[in-house]
Amino acid sequence: MSFTAVELIEIKRDRGILSPDAIDWLIQAYTEGSVTDYQMSAMAMAIFLNGLDGDELAAWTSAMLHSGEVLEFAEISAPKVDKHSTGGVGDKISIPLQPLVAACGVAVPMISGRGLGHTGGTLDKLETIPGFTTGLDPQRFREVLIAHGLVLAGQSDTLVPADRKLYALRDATATVPSIPLISSSIMSKKLAEDLDGLLLDVKTGSGAFKRDLETARELARTMVGIGTMNGVHTVALITRMDQPLGREVGNANELRESIEVLNGGGPEDILELTLAFGEVMLELAGVGGGRDRLLETIATGAALQKLVDVVVAQGGDPSVIHDPSLLAVAPSEAVIEADRDGYVDQCDALIIGIVATRLGAGRERKEDVVDPGVGITVDAKIGEKVQKGQPLAQIRFSDPARWEAQREMLAKAWVIEDTAPLIEDLIVERIDASAS
Ligand code: URA
Repeated sequence: MSFTAVELIEIKRDRGILSPDAIDWLIQAYTEGSVTDYQMSAMAMAIFLNGLDGDELAAWTSAMLHSGEVLEFAEISAPKVDKHSTGGVGDKISIPLQPLVAACGVAVPMISGRGLGHTGGTLDKLETIPGFTTGLDPQRFREVLIAHGLVLAGQSDTLVPADRKLYALRDATATVPSIPLISSSIMSKKLAEDLDGLLLDVKTGSGAFKRDLETARELARTMVGIGTMNGVHTVALITRMDQPLGREVGNANELRESIEVLNGGGPEDILELTLAFGEVMLELAGVGGGRDRLLETIATGAALQKLVDVVVAQGGDPSVIHDPSLLAVAPSEAVIEADRDGYVDQCDALIIGIVATRLGAGRERKEDVVDPGVGITVDAKIGEKVQKGQPLAQIRFSDPARWEAQREMLAKAWVIEDTAPLIEDLIVERIDASAS
């Protein structure tokens, strides 16, 4: 059967249903380049507005998955488990978590993404390590995984190439926050990894793509359903993303903070999520020891060593892991100060994420190159007491004009009140296959 991009866009624009053959053709033609970016942008917007039904979503995810090589690791006897987040601000959890879990004997074959919208991406953070390459072909991906029980790669020309292209396109066309587009993007990457278990971190709150809890639940259930249908034991945790995680936002900043965690320090919320996610990943892998084992693996230095080994295997310079002060820092600095005494009631993740992106930590156009040293250090988080004139955040930037354009907006991220707000648990709920 033959199709044209225009007729398929028309079908979705008019709320019709795309057949599995039409979806296969579209994804393949887009991956090869005969369907253009502007046509796929129109399709992404039509899906954003009109959705995909269950059969369309299954076909779309499968077509994305089969756009590249679907990996198989029959020779690896260790259980294979991964974790993926729907995206947040300051959300660097994968960087300490994956080496930690791998150092406990679980194989972690991670394919992740770049920054998307106002949220940061694991690949951009890892690429602040000089020489580190995330663009691995399936052969090298396999070799690193077999040698180290961990590989930290991105979509490539051979691994989920359709997501590689569509991900960058959605980032620049305001088509990220769509349940079918997020679900198919994440699950196509995860189903290419030959996993036994998958943990999904689904964010809710101001900095999440799906802010309200009910929509975050729907996203979680959709992805758990896709994982389960494909034979992967999938669990989702819904977690809060009202304020940045940890104190650091920006690529090199976040890598530095991740290394602190692997050195036995780091902010409480980052450690809490790392351990909570690590426990679920060990459970999915059938590996015992739980939290005590994770803490012991940090304390012995084995988790940090795992990161060093993988950095070396993927061409990176390990000296920045041993001495994170060598990582990039943007040349100029500014401070946002509290305009009154009181307690921080809001420290808005969305505003902080947008400003970091506009300063160069993320992309506004597909072609943009991220500035690794741009970042925001959050000095005052929700519930903390501040005095007038005290720093709320320190900003590192390279372009003073860009900073001047963002200063006013960033200051609005903080709301200070007379009384301390209620602090809610970071983990809201767990969604298992039976509930999806
Ligand atoms: N992470 C992904 O990999 N894709 C999305 O669409 C959102 C978060």
